[in-house]
Amino acid sequence: MNHYDVLIIGAGHNGLTAAAYLSKAGKRVLVLEKRPVIGGFCVGENDTPALAPFPRGILRPDIIRHLSLERFGLNPAPVSTDLISLLPGGRQLVLSADTAKTVDSISQFSKTDAARWPAFVRFIERAAAFLEAAYATPIPRLPKFSLAEGIPLAQLALKLRALGPKDMHNVIRLLPMTVKELLDEWFESEELKAAIATLGIHNANLGVMSAGSAYNLLHQYLIRGGSSPERNGRGWGQPVQHTHQVIAALEQAARAYGAEIRLNAEVARIMVENDRVTGVRLHSGEHLAASTVLSSVDPKTTFLRLVTPEPLDPEFVWQAQRIKMRGVTAKLQLTLASSVHPLEAIRASASSSVFIIAPSLTYLERAYDAAKYGQISEKPYLEMTPTGNLLSIHFQFAPYFLKPSAWNEETRRILAQTTWNTLNEYAPHLQSEITNLKSLTPLDLETTFALTEGDPHHGQILLDQFFFMRPLPGYADYKTPIEGLYLCGSGTHGGGGVSGIPGRNAAKSVLA
Ligand SMILES: Cc1cc2nc3c(=O)[nH]c(=O)nc-3n(C[C@H](O)[C@H](O)[C@H](O)COP(=O)(O)OP(=O)(O)OC[C@H]3O[C@@H](n4cnc5c(N)ncnc54)[C@H](O)[C@@H]3O)c2cc1C
Repeated sequence: MNHYDVLIIGAGHNGLTAAAYLSKAGKRVLVLEKRPVIGGFCVGENDTPALAPFPRGILRPDIIRHLSLERFGLNPAPVSTDLISLLPGGRQLVLSADTAKTVDSISQFSKTDAARWPAFVRFIERAAAFLEAAYATPIPRLPKFSLAEGIPLAQLALKLRALGPKDMHNVIRLLPMTVKELLDEWFESEELKAAIATLGIHNANLGVMSAGSAYNLLHQYLIRGGSSPERNGRGWGQPVQHTHQVIAALEQAARAYGAEIRLNAEVARIMVENDRVTGVRLHSGEHLAASTVLSSVDPKTTFLRLVTPEPLDPEFVWQAQRIKMRGVTAKLQLTLASSVHPLEAIRASASSSVFIIAPSLTYLERAYDAAKYGQISEKPYLEMTPTGNLLSIHFQFAPYFLKPSAWNEETRRILAQTTWNTLNEYAPHLQSEITNLKSLTPLDLETTFALTEGDPHHGQILLDQFFFMRPLPGYADYKTPIEGLYLCGSGTHGGGGVSGIPGRNAAKSVLA
């Protein structure tokens, strides 16, 4: 039998990041992926870009450096797109990394807000830089931890203090706030507040008036590429870099450093003896032995399905059952007749852009109201990303738990019709160009991509599921109650989104 030091379950971007770090450090690594393609949600249904659901993201700069990903074809400094809010009457509001351009656009809505924009971006940048430091900090098991384990926490506290008294208090205050409260303190224009607030609810089962939505804004800003000096102010849109490139570079790096990747290799069980991991059993029945196993599958599935419940303490199992997933995002992909984008706004824009339909805070809150009652929003928040002749649409809110009936062909039809109606209102000229429409409901996300309850982040980004409570209180160090079993996916400290943070941190935890 082949012997490996480390088995990694899942070849999404976090599993690959961990594989590259560990094999670079000299470990013999095997990655096991259940699907026939590498990349997890970053790649899509198969390896044909035309069918990909197009998440966008960029690895943190230190990961690109440490793994020399530039050598494997990754552009280290992708340009950010603009975020363009399409408004009634053909108006547009542009949020860009180019401050002058944004100020100019905002001034059409409010001169006061335009004047405040640079200070707001400076604050969000500093807050996101602190969040990045927090995500890179190994979190000890509270309440008992050694002095050595406490040092990184003390260093993080010093970073917070270094923000100065005003920003320090504002950052701490921001975390539990609603994104509406935060933005009401800065701006007066509804259009501007709504455009920024989309980051607070993106992929989250939260409305703009929900506590913690300001934290999600900061998280989204960070993973969209904000906070590092070379990307100043760029967290509003999405990085231009397609996650296919991220995956290709990570795969090449992992293989070049010596990792092996096996496809069509679904793990059925994580094997445990005497509270210690001993390897995995595949669905095919094959056993693979290793003293270290990393799972990039979400924590709920890892603990409740892959590890038999027996080796786990009942209280721990109970806590794992309570991890909140509750996906509310659907994805649609439109094929257009030509690659000349029919959106007037795209023609007017010099750079490639991400377009949103989010005209006011009230509109967004009403869209969320529907989710509370298990309904598809009649007037949804849409984010549209054009690539060639495809338009990828992010749709919120489309709750996994629909009432009265679950997801079926009829509710899929309603999803498509609602999208159609919304586009008709904000971009009517688009309709004649559409030749094909394809949708992924939260149920599809679960069945095709193993995203439990269709949750894009392997666990909602909520105040009771972040920092030392992600995935569970006391387990933010990527370790589990089973010795040798680690988590390395988006449901852990610093995840979700395409950033590589959990994969990097988990690998460091193993090596430490
Ligand atoms: C609709 C949607 C839109 C998104 N948009 C964005 C965006 O614009 N920007 C952004 O930053 N993020 C976005 N995200 C989130 C981002 O895509 C995910 O957070 C990220 O891809 C998760 O990466 P991961 O490596 O942790 O997990 P995954 O990509 O989920 O990888 C886990 C891997 O494990 C495999 N696996 C599962 N079970 C087993 C098993 N038993 N045995 C073997 N293998 C197994 C899966 O097949 C998968 O390949 C979006 C997500 C969704 C759903």
